Amino acid sequence: MANMTMPRHEMPAQEPDVRNKNFSEVALGYTKEMAMEEATRCLGCPKMPCKNGCPVQINIPDFITKVAEGDFEAAYQIINKTSSLPAVCGRVCPQENQCEKYCVRGIKGEAVAIGRLERFVADWHNANATQPPKKPETNGHKVAIIGSGPAGLTCAGDLAKMGYEVTVFEALHKAGGVLVYGIPEFRLPKAIVQKEVDTLKELGVEKVYTGHCTGEPAFRILKSVLGSQIQYVRCGQLVPADTEEDFLEQSRPAAVSIPEMPSKPAVKKGKKTYMKMHRLFAWGTVVCFVMTMVTGYMKK
Ligand SMILES: Cc1cc2nc3c(=O)[nH]c(=O)nc-3n(C[C@H](O)[C@H](O)[C@H](O)COP(=O)(O)OP(=O)(O)OC[C@H]3O[C@@H](n4cnc5c(N)ncnc54)[C@H](O)[C@@H]3O)c2cc1C
Ligand code: SF4
Repeated sequence: MANMTMPRHEMPAQEPDVRNKNFSEVALGYTKEMAMEEATRCLGCPKMPCKNGCPVQINIPDFITKVAEGDFEAAYQIINKTSSLPAVCGRVCPQENQCEKYCVRGIKGEAVAIGRLERFVADWHNANATQPPKKPETNGHKVAIIGSGPAGLTCAGDLAKMGYEVTVFEALHKAGGVLVYGIPEFRLPKAIVQKEVDTLKELGVEKVYTGHCTGEPAFRILKSVLGSQIQYVRCGQLVPADTEEDFLEQSRPAAVSIPEMPSKPAVKKGKKTYMKMHRLFAWGTVVCFVMTMVTGYMKK
């Protein structure tokens, strides 16, 4: 029987006067007791409207039931069936517009704190799990994922679970896409993203190459590393390519949109610019001097 009287548990957070002096995560996460209590608010609706509001269709009532029972590892395994990034989604998914928006408890009060429970379960697993995930048997097919944002990582995780040999290629120096370079540390710590990437590696995602793949070189690296019999999937801001020609065609804007590392130190570049300006001024002075001489001579 669901607890109908208890209000939704607030998320513990750093005090304003403390958090204004550091860059650490503001939200601190539920304690075990808070999570178990919050889980008792769930009605276990047979039609699962919350699940239908979840883009990856997590079986929400089932995992919440496990949380209420205190079996957090079982809750994690339920979430992990369809989500490869629970610690990330539990923090930054817009739950108020997805699962929680459809929660029946929200009709006459406050929705069950599904996102906070997901975050608790993922953090609990990351802190306490002793067994690495079981690697599925390989099906012998190789897939390259280009781009390691949430889309690429999710795709890599799902395919690895199906037995594909997955390799991820990332243009930037770290895996995670916008999760790493767009969402600030106080909202989503980088270590949380890295931990999810490490879990994918344990699951069988062979390698995550970073700092290599922009534009056409990406394709050459893919062929040399994985051989010609590969499937590749592009994930990120760029549209998927069906053919090799499309791939190369679409790679060009990628090469432009991703900043290249400067080949020479910035100080030298600055010096070069200064020299160019210097030469321009020198020539300008000469031209002005000649013009003055000529006009002066003509007046005479
Ligand atoms: C400032 C900011 C804050 C946000 N906050 C939230 C939030 O709180 N909650 C939320 O749900 N959403 C948030 N979003 C939106 C969310 O981050 C994006 O929807 C999500 O990152 C898109 O994921 P993606 O994998 O499709 O693309 P991306 O995250 O952009 O990842 C694409 C990756 O592909 C790589 N790549 C591209 N081309 C190549 C190539 N040719 N070779 C190799 N690698 C390549 C890129 O370097 C990049 O790492 C935020 C976005 C921004 C900008
Ligand atoms: S809709 Fe809300 S109350 Fe019903 S099962 Fe989902 S989380 Fe529980």
